[in-house]
Amino acid sequence: MKRQRILVVGAGHVGLYAALHLSRKLRSREAEVIVVDPQPHMTYQPFLPEAAAGNISPRHSVVPLRRELRRCTIVTGEVTRIDHARRVAMVQPVIGPAREEPYDQIIVAPGSVSRTLPIPGLKENAVGFKTIGEAIWLRNHVLEQLDIAAATADPHTRRCALTFVFVGGGYAGIEALAEMEDMARDALRYYPELHPEDMRWVLVEATRRILPEVGPDMGAYTVRQLVRRGLDIRLDTRLESCADGLVKLSDGDSFAADTIVWTAGVKAHPMLERTDLPRDDRGRVTCRATLQVVDGDRVVEGAWSAGDCAAVPDLTGPPGAFCSPSAQHAVRQARRMADNIRAVIRGREPVEYRHRYAGSVASLGLHKGVAQVYGIKLRGWPAWFMHRTYHMSRIPSLNRKVRVVVDWTLALFLKREVVSLGQLHEPRESFSEVTPAVPARSGRPG
Ligand SMILES: Cc1cc2nc3c(=O)[nH]c(=O)nc-3n(C[C@H](O)[C@H](O)[C@H](O)COP(=O)(O)OP(=O)(O)OC[C@H]3O[C@@H](n4cnc5c(N)ncnc54)[C@H](O)[C@@H]3O)c2cc1C
Repeated sequence: MKRQRILVVGAGHVGLYAALHLSRKLRSREAEVIVVDPQPHMTYQPFLPEAAAGNISPRHSVVPLRRELRRCTIVTGEVTRIDHARRVAMVQPVIGPAREEPYDQIIVAPGSVSRTLPIPGLKENAVGFKTIGEAIWLRNHVLEQLDIAAATADPHTRRCALTFVFVGGGYAGIEALAEMEDMARDALRYYPELHPEDMRWVLVEATRRILPEVGPDMGAYTVRQLVRRGLDIRLDTRLESCADGLVKLSDGDSFAADTIVWTAGVKAHPMLERTDLPRDDRGRVTCRATLQVVDGDRVVEGAWSAGDCAAVPDLTGPPGAFCSPSAQHAVRQARRMADNIRAVIRGREPVEYRHRYAGSVASLGLHKGVAQVYGIKLRGWPAWFMHRTYHMSRIPSLNRKVRVVVDWTLALFLKREVVSLGQLHEPRESFSEVTPAVPARSGRPG
């Protein structure tokens, strides 16, 4: 058989693990693995809330692709189109002209994007919480709001600065909200001008429950814990507008806020619209449990998909169920997919992916957490400890594990850094302020 070109679109949880396994398990004369991602790193998203809260260095919650995937060809760029009928993908590298990349097998794993709605002011005033850039920005922004509130004499400005709104009560939203509140409360010890009661942290959730991943009991427990900490939890409530920073809720309440974080779910990556691959009504690539792309009953030879962008049947659930978008499924599907690609290349049959969702662990700030794993319910410190142990065991590479553990160990002895590095977001400002502009030439051009 001719040497296979395996193109991996996206080096997230699915792409990184699949590429790693393929490059280890296939001989170089059997296949070449090409990985395309706009970022030079994989982001371990479950660590984003801890990175935003300053418990882990943001650099340690990402995995450098060139270090981890030494046997693969890395292309920093974006796949903008897939023409599977011709087996080519259009790749736009970070610089230079777009080019066609031919392949024999393709792994489609661009993941998901925030699922947003046409709400007035949302585009202009809100931020998502899915990327390392958003996590770093949010940390600097929240700490900057404390500086603003401490400096101003105007009560309205202070109230806006100290009002933080999170929309969406899944694990991304709840962990981000709880970790950021914990960090801000910690930081207040250095702000004699401010008191914890001055801050207002609001969660807006459209349904009647939060954290569905840990079950109704533990979701209700989390609500009680957050309310006890003074957070304002609005269930059964929707964000109707945030134009000009004025938050209007469906329960009739309205207030001004300088921080609005949107974490209300995800949808399959829109790049998939520019492919000829079959998709379901939610825009996900339709798959068999073998992770082969399927069009009706027909397997689309050479095309594979998994993770947030794929509709993969959940063989452990009721008929017609699909695997939920989670790192837990993504990583396991990636391994199964790599084994299946190897099997097909070597002329064997692929095996179906089967994994019963084990449950979830969520951190609610330092030493606080909630978990439900294989029916066992944990809360408080044991759940938080389990969250850390689980994710430490899951983040790829020994190098990252060691760095994360060192961050946590240092935090046992040294208080966390609570200083805003907001300048990061406008690095040229101070230099350009002191640099004179070249005066316009007088007289007629020569
Ligand atoms: C804050 C947060 C906390 C979470 N916590 C948990 C948790 O505790 N437990 C859990 O199980 N799950 C958790 N998740 C969900 C989990 O992270 C996702 O389900 C998982 O990342 C999905 O993996 P994926 O490979 O499909 O997508 P991703 O990991 O998002 O990877 C997609 C990759 O594709 C790249 N890409 C995008 N477009 C293109 C393109 N056009 N061309 C090439 N590459 C492209 C992206 O840059 C990215 O690297 C969390 C998510 C978030 C946001």
